Amino acid sequence: MTQNRRQFIKSTLAALAVISAGPVSLKSSAFAADGAFQSKPWVELSKAAYLKNASQISKMAGGKPVLAVLKNNAYGLGDSQVARILNSSSDIAGIAMVKDDRALAVKAAGVSKPILLMGDFDNQLSDSLIEKKIILSIYSWDSLAKIKRLAGREAKPIEVALYIDTGLGRMGIPYQEAIRIAREVRDIPGLSISHTFSTLTSPKDFATEQIARFERIVAEMKKQGIPSGIKHLAPSSSLLELPSSHQDCVRPGILVHGSFPLANMPEAKRYPLQVPYRLKAPVIRLEKLRAGDTIGFSRFYKVEKDEWIATLPIGWADGYNGGAENGAKVLLGNQLVPVVNVNASHANISLGEATDVKVGDVATLIGPEREEITPEGFGKLVNGHNYLQINYKESLPKKIYETF
Ligand SMILES: *Cc1c(COP(=O)(O)O)cnc(C)c1O
Repeated sequence: MTQNRRQFIKSTLAALAVISAGPVSLKSSAFAADGAFQSKPWVELSKAAYLKNASQISKMAGGKPVLAVLKNNAYGLGDSQVARILNSSSDIAGIAMVKDDRALAVKAAGVSKPILLMGDFDNQLSDSLIEKKIILSIYSWDSLAKIKRLAGREAKPIEVALYIDTGLGRMGIPYQEAIRIAREVRDIPGLSISHTFSTLTSPKDFATEQIARFERIVAEMKKQGIPSGIKHLAPSSSLLELPSSHQDCVRPGILVHGSFPLANMPEAKRYPLQVPYRLKAPVIRLEKLRAGDTIGFSRFYKVEKDEWIATLPIGWADGYNGGAENGAKVLLGNQLVPVVNVNASHANISLGEATDVKVGDVATLIGPEREEITPEGFGKLVNGHNYLQINYKESLPKKIYETF
């Protein structure tokens, strides 16, 4: 199927469609077969790579299922799109979200696995959330009061999650209060506890203490006849470093997208993950600048001898990290080319004294093809860490491939 521009800019649902063609050529052009020009940057997702990662992550967790955290628009990669891909994986136990409307969007995209909302919700959305069976979190006395008012609206009890703060300090029922709230929930006929969870901090010694706090609560709940449902604690870092955090399932975010939470983790060699996405943009302008010319508002880049400079229509306002101008590369054809300037909506790359690049040629800014353009490689080149690559704006269109 050829992607023409009209197809491409259609609504989210169209963007969810899977492109059945195989890998696209690296020499791809932004000019489609009908001559239409793709003028904006976009994101490509590989179904096969996401599914492979889900299975690797489950292996890292000793075979436990994965509750994938797709908050913040799946770290910029498209929550509905990634959720739809993961929905077909037997390693995936469900999807965890933080915003009410995004949880509903994921559901509306056709996700049939359980969806856990780990944040608050607007009262106007409560009927939809209940109707769509989004699992609501009780994370404070106030949130219990809010959810209690909804109990009894449906014939079946509303599924809720007990979100316990064992030490992260930002969300959840303080662990000292957890049993009192759990008892209260047990005694409300219209509610049923399907998850009990907490979030671990990164330092291992404190995370170990958090696990002990959590396990004491769960044991006490059991003693008092309060079901805890599915138990989980582990974001990516604890999943990798603390096997005792695995519980009934693990709850990673960044690993799902093929990045490790820290650079050079030994697990990265044992359980390699794939970069399941590409960030791409076409060359929209190509000019030979002369020695003495400069690029950018702050005249950041100075041309020392005549060189071809290409402009890509992507900048930090699209979520491309502005630090790229400090040494990142993009792949154009089979050549790695330095990024020399990043503004809000444009980035410039240097092609040297002579080039056969043309307007319409497509650059891969992030992707699996070369170490330098993987999220980890990019982080190394610009002196940052892996999470630099998680801010892509929702407005970037998503193309979904079976594999690449
Ligand atoms: C973000 C988040 C995660 C996942 O974190 P990663 O470091 O991306 O694995 C897990 N649980 C909660 C509550 C979160 O907010």
